[in-house]
Amino acid sequence: MSHSQTPSRPLEVPCPRCRTSVQWVEENRFRPFCSERCKLIDLGAWADGTHRIAGEPAMDETEIDEMILRAERGDMGRDD
Ligand SMILES: [Zn+2]
Repeated sequence: MSHSQTPSRPLEVPCPRCRTSVQWVEENRFRPFCSERCKLIDLGAWADGTHRIAGEPAMDETEIDEMILRAERGDMGRDD
């Protein structure tokens, strides 16, 4: 059978966060996101309700970096 699709080529999806093309493969544990950063940003946005507020500005870079640092240290929501 000859089809136009190449079987060796993995499915590609756009990252829900930044629209970068992401290969849907086992090795990409952040799929459908392109990276851990985009995954954390999107999960964080859902967690604090950003997705539910229309017209609200997106988090800025500083907040995103802080959130990722906290998530990595495992002390989310604590201040000491
Ligand atoms: Zn992304």
